[in-house]
This record gives sequence, structure tokens and C-alpha cells, in this order.
Amino acid sequence: MRPEITRAQAVIPVGTSSPLRACRNVEADPIVVREAHGQYLHDVDGTRYVDFMYGFGPLILGHAPEVVAQAIAEQAGNGTLFGTYCPLEVELAERICATADHLEQLRFVCSGTEAVMSALRVARAHTGRTNIVRFNGGYHGHFDLVQNKGETVMREAGLDPVAMRSNLFADYNDIASVEKLFAEHPGEIAAVVIEPIACNMSLVLPEGDFLQQLRELCTREGALLIFDEVITGFRLTNGPASNLLGVSPDLTVFGKIIGGGTPVGAYGGRADVMRLLDEERVLQGGTLAGNPLTMAAGLATLGELGKPGFYEELERKGALLQAAVERHRTAAGLDFTFTRTGSIFAFIFVPNGSPIRRKEDVARQEHQPYTTLYAGMREAGYHLAPDIEEPMYISAATPDETLEDFAAKVCAILAA
Ligand code: PMP
Repeated sequence: MRPEITRAQAVIPVGTSSPLRACRNVEADPIVVREAHGQYLHDVDGTRYVDFMYGFGPLILGHAPEVVAQAIAEQAGNGTLFGTYCPLEVELAERICATADHLEQLRFVCSGTEAVMSALRVARAHTGRTNIVRFNGGYHGHFDLVQNKGETVMREAGLDPVAMRSNLFADYNDIASVEKLFAEHPGEIAAVVIEPIACNMSLVLPEGDFLQQLRELCTREGALLIFDEVITGFRLTNGPASNLLGVSPDLTVFGKIIGGGTPVGAYGGRADVMRLLDEERVLQGGTLAGNPLTMAAGLATLGELGKPGFYEELERKGALLQAAVERHRTAAGLDFTFTRTGSIFAFIFVPNGSPIRRKEDVARQEHQPYTTLYAGMREAGYHLAPDIEEPMYISAATPDETLEDFAAKVCAILAA
């Protein structure tokens, strides 16, 4: 083990402040990064790695894009925290709210976890109900109420068992499983929270009119529909992915991209729900919530995303990667599944064409091919997801040649 990692583990449990980064799930040591630019992570020895994680999704422009770095530096010189009204905060809130009709009001916090926590709180306050419906394989942060992932409870120690009892689990793409929960708990369900495109069990896309049916069911039952777009928000289009999916939730949770790589979360939606925060019936505070550094980084990022053709170009790159993977997969006689939407993608080690509709479809894959792939690609100068069920990302800084080379190397390693 590298001395930097031994040193880190002496003072920080696992050696990193968030566990997946430690790369234990791929039986590797993490890259000890000195700096990052464009598509590259540069380690302390001067070795560079092509990144396909981009900080677990926020860095859609690549690492250290000039406009964002400049905006942060400029803002740092003018104050990092005002503790009062901040025009940049209003500007970013307006920008985000302008992207979808249901986004009437919005609050900023410092992480996706906080944003989901607060959204669930206003939903409970609005409905006067306690229970929350979630989906097996979904992830919404690390607070007690959402920490179990359905069939598995992640690291149960220390959690409030009462809070966890208000979680009810359904299966993604299975409306009957949600209907069943409403029937079993009449008048008790405050909200259904879902990643409209599931990005925490590899990448699983919503099928047919599943989300539409969920919308109708929530309306009928008086529960709020909350889309957790911490990953998908501004990743696939200039706004929430719900715009592409044609389904309007009551509340949307954002994170990652809207903070331009700085700590951020946001939640917003129907004014009659968000107004509870104004009436001082629901508390959500935060010393650093809506801080000027994050707002400046977010505005600079959104400025780039709003340029004509930005998402078309990312889609072109995504399609190019997909075509290359499919070509090499066929040529090498390999059989695995590749899922993609826009600039998000994942490998799933089940036969190509197998149904990928819910957690259990992903969970039955074997882990060894991915562990081998991670190691081989690391050797070849690539940083892949440090967990088999995390998706990967293309950024605006990913050149076409990288996508071609990546596809070729992935298939060469899997073939060997
Ligand atoms: N929701 C989703 C869909 C996420 O993917 C994540 C984190 N990856 C979170 C919430 C939690 O966000 P954070 O890590 O910023 O607390």
C-alpha cells in the first residue's frame, strides 16, 4: 500500500471522507491525486489517468474548467460567505426554476443528502403523513430515513430504527408494487421518492409509462411525487430530466452539477409545498447553504450548459461510445450489457439483451469481471467507477479518441 494511503487511514477512517472513493469494492487502492484538468486526474507521481467518474458526476465540463475556476477565484476575492441576502443565490435559484414549470420555489443546501432530507420533511409536513415509498436499489443519501437500500440495509449500526420503519420499498418499473404499498398503508404515505432514471444500481431506465403511472397514482392517493435528480439534473438536458421524460413531479431534488464541483444540494417545486418553509412551520437552515462560492461556480457552469448544442454534443459522444463498445463487443465475441443515456453509462455483466428493469436484474451479475476490468483499465491509464453499481460519465472534456480507445481497451481486457 502506498505510504500516502497508510497515512490517510491513520487519521481518516478508510482514508477518505466518503467510503466508495477508497476503491475497496474493486479491491484496489485509490489514486492519490495531486491535481485534475480536463479529462485527466494527475497523481502525485506524475501519472495521469483518464477520468470517467468526474467526481461521481458533478464535473460535466471536465476538471477545473477555466470559466468555473475563474468564477470561484473571483468570488473568493470578494467574500466566501455573507450570512445575509446574496444576489448570486437568487440568480441561480431563478435560473434553475426557469427550467421547469413545477419549479416555483427552491432552497439551496450543501449536499444531495441534505436536499432529500429537507424535501422529505416538507412533504411530510404538507401531507401530515409519515411514510415514504422508495425503490429497491435507489440511493438518496446517508441520513437514517433513507439509508437502507431496500433488500439490504447498508451499515445498520447507529441508525434510528423508528425512522427506518417509515421506509416502504417498491420495485423500480413495477407500478403494481407501488399500488400494493398504497393499499396496505391507506392515508399514511407522504411521498414517493424516486430517481426518475435510476443511477445507483448501474443505470436502469424507466420503462413505458411507469413514471406517468406513478404520477397518477400519487395524485390519486394525495402523496407527493419527489424526483431525486441529484445525478440526472442538468446531466441530460438543461434542467431536470423530468423535462425529457414528460412527467412533472411535485418536488425535485438537485445536487452535483448545479454546484459546479463545490458542495451543493437544492430542492424545490410547488410553491404551496415550499411555502411551509416561509410560514416557519418547517425548519431547514445551513450556515453554508447558498454560499457565494458555490453559487458562483454553479452559475458559471450553468452558463456553459445553456450554450446552443451543449447537450447535443454530449449525446453525440455518448452515442459514439455506445457504437464503439458494441462494435468491439461483437468483434471480441463478448456477452455483456451496456446501458447508456446521454453521457451516463454502465456495464452490467449479464448477457446482452437480458431485461434490466430493477435492482434484482443488476444484483445478479458476477463481480469478478468488473474487478478485473477496473484493475486492467487502471493499468491502462483509466479511472473507472470504484463500484460495480456506480455508473460512469462522459464530460465535455472527453475527446472522441478517448471514447474509441476506452471501448477498445475495455473489450480487450474482458476478452483476455
Ligand atoms: N441522491 C442521489 C440520486 C445520489 O446519487 C446521491 C449521491 N450520489 C445523493 C442523493 C446524495 O448526495 P450527496 O452525496 O451530495 O449527499
